[in-house]
Amino acid sequence: MDSDGAAEYPPRPGHGFDVAIIGAGVVGAAIARQLSHYELKVIWLEAGEDVGAGTSKANTAIWHTGFDATPGSLEARLLRRGHGLLAAFGARAGIPLETTGALLVAWTDEQLGSLPGIRDRARQNGYPDVERIDPIALRALEPNLSDNAKGALVIPQEGILCPFTTPLALATEAVLNGVDLRILHPVTQVTPLPSTYRVSGPGFEIEAGYIVNAAGLGADTVESLFCVPRLEVRPRRGELIVYDKAARDLIRHILLPVPSSMGKGVLVAPTVFGNLLLGPTAEPVETPDATQTTTAGIGYLRHRGQQIVPRLADEEVTALFAGVRAATQFPDYQIRSDGPPRYVLVGGIRSTGLSSSLAIGEHVRDLLDGLGCRLAPKPKPEEAVMPILGEAFLRPHRDVSAIEADPDCGRIVCHCEGVTRAEILRACGSTIPARSLDGVRRRTRALLGRCQGFYCAAQVLELLAVAAGRDVASLTGLDERPSPAPLGRLRTESTRVSPRG
Ligand SMILES: Cc1cc2nc3c(=O)[nH]c(=O)nc-3n(C[C@H](O)[C@H](O)[C@H](O)COP(=O)(O)OP(=O)(O)OC[C@H]3O[C@@H](n4cnc5c(N)ncnc54)[C@H](O)[C@@H]3O)c2cc1C
Repeated sequence: MDSDGAAEYPPRPGHGFDVAIIGAGVVGAAIARQLSHYELKVIWLEAGEDVGAGTSKANTAIWHTGFDATPGSLEARLLRRGHGLLAAFGARAGIPLETTGALLVAWTDEQLGSLPGIRDRARQNGYPDVERIDPIALRALEPNLSDNAKGALVIPQEGILCPFTTPLALATEAVLNGVDLRILHPVTQVTPLPSTYRVSGPGFEIEAGYIVNAAGLGADTVESLFCVPRLEVRPRRGELIVYDKAARDLIRHILLPVPSSMGKGVLVAPTVFGNLLLGPTAEPVETPDATQTTTAGIGYLRHRGQQIVPRLADEEVTALFAGVRAATQFPDYQIRSDGPPRYVLVGGIRSTGLSSSLAIGEHVRDLLDGLGCRLAPKPKPEEAVMPILGEAFLRPHRDVSAIEADPDCGRIVCHCEGVTRAEILRACGSTIPARSLDGVRRRTRALLGRCQGFYCAAQVLELLAVAAGRDVASLTGLDERPSPAPLGRLRTESTRVSPRG
């Protein structure tokens, strides 16, 4: 029953489903894709206007191995499995992934003393080739690192990935395989019935045999709709600085700090778009939507960044943004099927969910199996191939054969990021189409560059309006409308806090 005219992908008759997934971040997307490989009728409900537009879009985009996770924890197990699954899926589906390797750098004698313990932990987690190096070897690997570094561990398998393509690739495959994605469908009521659940929100009501709660920062609120919530989300903000592409060559690896009880700490990392990223902070905040950047947070990051790579002081900043982690009272992931019947909670996926998402999908499938959900595999599920966004790969504007096949591949709209008219039009007509400037940004990289859309936003908006058959004003309104659910929002203003020279 859809009275609000919201998009359905694809429309289906009837209200009865085998499984309802709540939340379309990267975790919900991985679960949806996994379940789409079985003969199940799956509905996937998202409060916001797009897939991957919550915490999943505003993070550090490290492809974690889990080398430093607590051995024996669910997070350690799913990270290790998820890292490998993502390598295979990413290569096939076109997710930009780069194995840069990481250096975990000790800055104090105390941190230096903790390196052997971290190396042992890495070995327990299945990474035997994590090795310690001295300051001379460290300097040879990273000539721009501060002289104050006292030593490091080398973690060869750590990498970087695209936080935008990952959920979209998973979601696209899920939708291609029949998952019924409903955006702008915030779940506000869940009523347990004898053998199903009634799930409803503004203008819709469905029934589903099983429920998967993948609502991220809203997981406790969703659980409270039908039982005493077993977890309490304690939102923890992370602010980040994106440096201009000119800074990219300052480092070769991800530069990790020694982690603390508050998290993984402030790192410097390359991005798959060819920038440098500095962050994140770790600050408890009152509400899940506290995604503002702050003077104090950015000031701290700049100070810390210059301690790690002194030459960062001279580099220009392209953007600032903040994301909010769904931390809880528990140190580990809370993926459980021991609560209400036919229900799986997928909560507390705090700092590593992008990397572990595919393994979480498998794990939830197994839990549903244990709850009696019938899983008959589909003979040959459809596979998605995503547009190429990574700077290390052949982008359409550099691909002569692509330009010959479609002249729009040679018509650049966003000059900062080299995004063509063809890519924007494809994003607007894709399986899960962009519905806003933010949607185009995450599907193409347009508006993400150093001008932050100053020069191209009007043209992108026009293309979006033509593709959507709408007028530009209505689209601008859509872009600015407050979100109906907690979302980690990417700040888009150009912020030059470090003018050159
Ligand atoms: C600063 C920061 C840095 C990070 N760095 C990394 C990193 O480098 N590598 C890594 O692997 N991970 C990292 N993470 C963690 C990673 O981003 C998260 O673990 C992951 O994005 C969580 O995905 P999710 O799907 O659980 O949540 P989300 O992406 O937030 O998705 C949850 C969705 O549920 C929807 N929702 C909520 N309530 C409802 C409702 N009632 N009805 C319908 N829908 C609802 C929301 O709108 C949202 O879209 C980082 C996180 C942060 C904040």
